[in-house]
Amino acid sequence: MTTLIDQDAGRVDVEDKAMLGARADVNQLLPLKYHWAWEKYLAACSNHWMPTEVSMQADLALWKSPGGLTEDERLMLKRNLGFFATAESLVANNLVLAVYRRITNPECRQYLLRQAFEEAVHTHTFQYICESLGFDEGELFNSYREVPSITAKDAWALKYTQSLDGDTGDQEFLRNLVAFYVVFEGMWFYTGFAQILSLGRRNKMVGIAEQYQYILRDESIHLNFGIDCINQIKIENPRLWTPAFQAEVREMLVEACELEVAYARDTMPRGMLGLSAALCEQYMRFITDRRARQIGLAPIFGETGNPFPWLSEAIDLKKEKNFFETRVTEYQTGGSLDWD
Ligand code: FE
Ligand code: MN
Repeated sequence: MTTLIDQDAGRVDVEDKAMLGARADVNQLLPLKYHWAWEKYLAACSNHWMPTEVSMQADLALWKSPGGLTEDERLMLKRNLGFFATAESLVANNLVLAVYRRITNPECRQYLLRQAFEEAVHTHTFQYICESLGFDEGELFNSYREVPSITAKDAWALKYTQSLDGDTGDQEFLRNLVAFYVVFEGMWFYTGFAQILSLGRRNKMVGIAEQYQYILRDESIHLNFGIDCINQIKIENPRLWTPAFQAEVREMLVEACELEVAYARDTMPRGMLGLSAALCEQYMRFITDRRARQIGLAPIFGETGNPFPWLSEAIDLKKEKNFFETRVTEYQTGGSLDWD
């Protein structure tokens, strides 16, 4: 009898497992090769949350009260939500339509399945915020077409998804990973986090701020998974990481930083909440240098000052492990999140 299953293939040899173009059966999780991927899957599962667990009563009252937020804060909030509402979808679609197909390793795919669900939870968050606060859904979900600085970012990223259609090479896939994990999730989400967490620290829109903390916790694993993937692919395929390609990646990071600075100006024409477009620019240069280093490139701007140290404390910088351990405990005991 002939079947689609090769019965003579022999058992999986861990050495045959690979990130790209693996010979080993993708349907056999064990033996594990990339323990970092499995650990991220486990960490992600212990961070489970749903947006509907967060009460929006205080946010609704503040949004409705005439003097509750300044006009600048309202503009920032709408554009911020408008960016994220579609960004989560773009990331999710790239994940299942591009990344999942190219990565040929089952433990990485296990993590990707979990990440895909988290992106659905994040999109759900923006639906829930929109419904709870009575926002104009057409306005929110069309921001990516109607706010030029958001259109510019999304159009930049979409190029890297489009280029993966059909028969494309591993280098193009690496470009896609840089665009989506390092730039989209690793740089462009961070101005947005700074904005909303600044509101939260001032006791404004505390429901949304709590949801952003959970999103941020998820995203810091997404980012670190993406960086691990890029670095592992480099190790297995040194031919891809040419000097010309490295120069190209650096150029991508420079462009991404500029697009983010334009977005900061567009969302915050004037300073507020201890933030300003200038500080966001410094912050983005600092983050860009950190991302460059994480994928083995020299810093681009040489920016050593982080203007938002309080945000780094809460995020990924150097403390991923501690961050997860403390957050998981706080969340599972039902305590509310602290702002420090
Ligand atoms: Fe997300
Ligand atoms: Mn994500």
